[in-house]
Amino acid sequence: IKTYGCQMNEYDSEVIAGLLQREGFTLTSEPGEADFVVVNTCYVREKVKNKVYSFLGELKKFKRKNPRLIIGVGGCLAQKEGGRIREKAPHVDIVWGAFNLHNLPEFLADFERKKMPLVKVESDGQIPEGLPVVRKSKVSAYIPVIRGCNNFCSYCMVPYVRGRERSRPVNSILQEVKQAVEQGYKEVILLGQNVNSYGKDLPLSFDFADLLEKINEIKEVKRIRFTTSHPKDLSEKLILAMSRLDKVCEHLHLPLQAGSNKVLERMRRGYTREKYLELVSKVREVVPEISLTTDIIVGFPGETEEDFEQTLKMLELVRFDGAFTFAFSPLPGTRAAKLDGQIPEVIKKKRLRRLIELQLKITEERNLYWMGKEVEVLVEGPSEKNPDELQGRTRENKIVVFPAGKNLIGEFVRVRIKKTGCWALRGEIIKC
Ligand code: SAM
Ligand code: SF4
Repeated sequence: IKTYGCQMNEYDSEVIAGLLQREGFTLTSEPGEADFVVVNTCYVREKVKNKVYSFLGELKKFKRKNPRLIIGVGGCLAQKEGGRIREKAPHVDIVWGAFNLHNLPEFLADFERKKMPLVKVESDGQIPEGLPVVRKSKVSAYIPVIRGCNNFCSYCMVPYVRGRERSRPVNSILQEVKQAVEQGYKEVILLGQNVNSYGKDLPLSFDFADLLEKINEIKEVKRIRFTTSHPKDLSEKLILAMSRLDKVCEHLHLPLQAGSNKVLERMRRGYTREKYLELVSKVREVVPEISLTTDIIVGFPGETEEDFEQTLKMLELVRFDGAFTFAFSPLPGTRAAKLDGQIPEVIKKKRLRRLIELQLKITEERNLYWMGKEVEVLVEGPSEKNPDELQGRTRENKIVVFPAGKNLIGEFVRVRIKKTGCWALRGEIIKC
């Protein structure tokens, strides 16, 4: 299973793995060993689309070697492209969308019976509850709480390919959380394009803060994280819940996207830079050590040098702990792709470089705060850079690398920070 995109897509791939395991498949990371290759796609930028098609091109050679190999493509890009996927990559056998991954076993059986390619992207938008899931992490469990999005930010494809907001029933979420902790997971990461909208479409009056409260009551859950929060819907109630509920980690991902009010309006984000700064002060007032991360797009149509300077200014005012940075990509079908004032690629790249440079400097400075401090780390696994060491995260979502034995994976340890940098902190375990 090859996954592109956000954590929601990673979760969908975990469900696909669960469904296929139920059919008797086992996972392999080698396409050459596989009987079925699943490509779970995303569509936030044209660049991803090109990457997907180039990966599909690479798969041709595996199909030549093993003519029985089945290739399936699903997810957001597949939802948007539909039959075009097979026009551009005729060796693909099955195409499904963002809503009907649960039908994959039927599609597969249908294909094997008729040996006829299938393109199935239409559906009623409902994803059944209780689907099997094979989680990739052994430590944190993704739990989607709301699917789709109603916001229609002018640059974004999500509402078109993932549909309108649908909150999962409270009981299904709680049941999935309980199942995960029974399997030994200590941390849950609640997912949604805008978790702050949770519950608006449910018959009862129950919002995201109420959901956090319920999950916080489950004894075996040790840490709760969530992503993403939309600034226009970040309520005082939620901010207070973050401060009050002991298991909710001190980290908030709050996408700013741009620092100029003119650009924010053209993006249809529904807040101003002043409102955003007000939210940041409120959050920092009640959760002082909170780590704040964000998403920024540069080179949005009509963005002048002054507008871009305002984005840089916001970075300096807020001093984020980290940022995902993107050059605006005009996605066909979105309003922003048709706006006047499209910015040349060279300027977007230049702005992106300046933005990244500034943010790395701020991240490095923010991380200095942790020097010499003692932190609680949930150990995730071997360090990505040096497999002889371990890595994990603090409650503030800082990656910490330290020397220790693999028996500590999945455990909480206390670490003293000895060195800081912009990617990770280094430390030593404190012996009790
Ligand atoms: N729901 C989240 C929110 O509202 O912030 C974001 C979801 S989106 C899949 C992830 C990020 O991709 C966005 O926050 C935005 O910064 C970026 N993004 C989305 N569409 C984009 C586009 N057309 N060009 C560049 N970046 C884009
Ligand atoms: Fe896209 Fe905006 Fe919805 Fe986020 S809130 S998924 S950026 S439309």
